[in-house]
Amino acid sequence: MSHRPYSTSAYREAARALAAIGRRIYGQGWSPATSSNYSLRLNEDHAAITRSGRDKGLLEETDIMVVDMEGAAVGDGKPSAETLLHTQLYRRLPDCGAVLHTHSHASTVLTMHWPADHITLEGYELLKALDGVQTHDTRLTIPVFENSQDIAALAAEVDRAMDAGDAGHAYLIRGHGLYTWAADIGACYRQLEALETLLAVELDRRRLG
Ligand SMILES: [Zn+2]
Repeated sequence: MSHRPYSTSAYREAARALAAIGRRIYGQGWSPATSSNYSLRLNEDHAAITRSGRDKGLLEETDIMVVDMEGAAVGDGKPSAETLLHTQLYRRLPDCGAVLHTHSHASTVLTMHWPADHITLEGYELLKALDGVQTHDTRLTIPVFENSQDIAALAAEVDRAMDAGDAGHAYLIRGHGLYTWAADIGACYRQLEALETLLAVELDRRRLG
């Protein structure tokens, strides 16, 4: 299959942006112990993504590589084990420009302790930080998928949930973490920060009863 070429300057810019955002996310405590992965679309056929197993607190431009939309490495290196969850979003959503995935304390406890297949966030002012949300009077339902470790099967499951109209902004994997996406890295980080904050708030509220 022939892929449309991406520009080197777009790749360099993406690598810089992803390294910076990764260090910022690590600083929030959402990407411990080399976990998590982040990506940016380069064009219709390529994305820049974190290499497997890199310390996100020390992330540099050299820790970013290129994959095609089937998740295969372009050039040297081993991409993140969860690359197919990123490419599923880019293939499915032409306007998706960035994907951020974290392994936070709140998302882990909420999905492990409560067996529900979704988490609902409702009435929070911070929901307005999400793309397309105009009012706090919003109910956001985030699906929770089982952590099957079969990434291709999980990507297919996300696709089916989207067919059913679920997973508009984000989804969770049980005992694992959060995926969220947006048109660009700024909007995606804002959304991630809002969601991680709200998940931590939700956890506190449930603990307080
Ligand atoms: Zn993960």
